[in-house]
Amino acid sequence: MTTTVLGVPDQINLDYAATAPCARAAADAVAELLPWYGSVHRGAGALSQRSTLAYEVARQAVGDFLGARAGDHVIFTRNTTDALNLLARALPAGTPVVTYGAEHHANLLPWPVGAVRLPVPDSPGAAIRALDAALRQLDAPALVAVTGASNVTGERWPVAELAAVAHRHGARIAVDAAQLAPHAPIDIADLDLDYVAVSGHKLYAPFGAGVLAGRGDWLDAAPPYLTGGGATRHVGAATHDVRWATGPARHEAGTPNLLGAVALAAVCTTLDPTAVQATERALVARLRAGLAEIPGVAELRMFDPGAERVGIVSFVVAGRDSAEVAAELARDHGIGVRDGLFCAHPLTRRLIAEAAARTGRRDLPPTALRASVGLGTTESDVEALLSALCR
Ligand code: PLP
Repeated sequence: MTTTVLGVPDQINLDYAATAPCARAAADAVAELLPWYGSVHRGAGALSQRSTLAYEVARQAVGDFLGARAGDHVIFTRNTTDALNLLARALPAGTPVVTYGAEHHANLLPWPVGAVRLPVPDSPGAAIRALDAALRQLDAPALVAVTGASNVTGERWPVAELAAVAHRHGARIAVDAAQLAPHAPIDIADLDLDYVAVSGHKLYAPFGAGVLAGRGDWLDAAPPYLTGGGATRHVGAATHDVRWATGPARHEAGTPNLLGAVALAAVCTTLDPTAVQATERALVARLRAGLAEIPGVAELRMFDPGAERVGIVSFVVAGRDSAEVAAELARDHGIGVRDGLFCAHPLTRRLIAEAAARTGRRDLPPTALRASVGLGTTESDVEALLSALCR
């Protein structure tokens, strides 16, 4: 089935990496459920029963999409940031964390002070070697937290190989798949990952749900992420007399975001990530080739130009302020892109400095522009951006 998205005529949206448009399947699923909308896990009435069923069916669908194994938990959160914060809270005491300086802030800041931050690698192979060396130094099993695809450059990380290295050292791996899942297949079991985090609003399901999926043992042993109704098995009169639930309920206290879960599940059951990947490859190749021909435009990248990537390209225009360029693209051409440091300040600053060194230009701006594509993006959208930039 082809997934289509909602949009506004005359607006060229090239900002999917920030928030993707709403899939029609998500909108339809929400519209269908709305008359039946009721409390989840809390009522005997037909509306509540149907809503509870829809929520649990959604959990199953999202788990299937992510390749969750039997025994993995699929926990609904608000977004990827929330999912990674939940995992950070569930870390067994004394577990070292290893990450890279190339991460989005969501995968940089939740980890305990003292987490090892490996330098930004210049190739996927260098990332693997650096992880191997770092894990060799540690005397306790670690958690490795790494992105699946960079939100700045779109470059993909070798997550299967990193997982193999992690496991060889007795470590676990969590993949921030916020930018990978909307653009390419991700399968926890096939890639042998321990945890995956995604955001619904980047996956065409803009109703405020995210997911942490992965191994249940740490999550069942951790204190509840939120405490309150729904997370308990028994609450007695004394303050200490509480027995917490295990499974997803332990971390989902309070009334859950039913519509967010159902919207995300609708996308998960209709999206074909392999087909998406093929279409986006062609769009990104044209975008990058076009940008390379515009004098003064420099692409940001960590790896070789041929490295595998998803539908995200960041660049700078020499001598031009990125915020001004983005505003002009919006005002004069109806094109939406993102400008700034993309919540990955250390990485983006570094890549701008590297682009300056590579091009010999001393007039690169301190922030960058980012164009990102997805379902519904056409070749003519890409051409429109290129010709607007040329002008
Ligand atoms: N990780 C990556 C790679 C991202 O690109 C983003 C958002 O841009 C996040 C995490 C955080 O996502 P959210 O804002 O939905 O929590």
